[in-house]
Amino acid sequence: MSTKIESVTVEMTAENKCSFCKGSKCCSYFTQQIDTPRKKSDFQTLLWQIAHRDIEIYKDEDGWFLIINNSCNFILAGGGCAIYDERPTICREYDNDWCEYDEPAEDNFKLHFTNYKSLLKYCKKRFKRWGK
Ligand code: SF4
Ligand code: SF4
Repeated sequence: MSTKIESVTVEMTAENKCSFCKGSKCCSYFTQQIDTPRKKSDFQTLLWQIAHRDIEIYKDEDGWFLIINNSCNFILAGGGCAIYDERPTICREYDNDWCEYDEPAEDNFKLHFTNYKSLLKYCKKRFKRWGK
């Protein structure tokens, strides 16, 4: 005997959109803007930072940023927020109308370093006498 299971299509709305977002992308990391690196010593600092676990660096039209790939402590198993009523202002102001669910943030990066090796390669290209 077989049982037929009917599939139900749920329409995505602003209210339920986040429930479709696996891992609550916007709560799984944060960024910190940094001064534009110009000198070798600036890039040496960035190399030190990206040598650490879960750190990436990018540049977009707003400048340079660190990405700290650590999830918020308050994401619930189902993707909700455990402190929803008192969540920080930055969380309240984040609009899901057009967010990372629709377009990955990386699509607008001009430079993106995901590890030490990729940044070191860039440094060697940017500074002809990098190792001198
Ligand atoms: S705002 Fe966007 S990225 Fe954040 S949880 Fe909702 S759908 Fe996902
Ligand atoms: S406080 Fe809530 S809304 Fe803000 S990042 Fe953490 S889980 Fe997401």
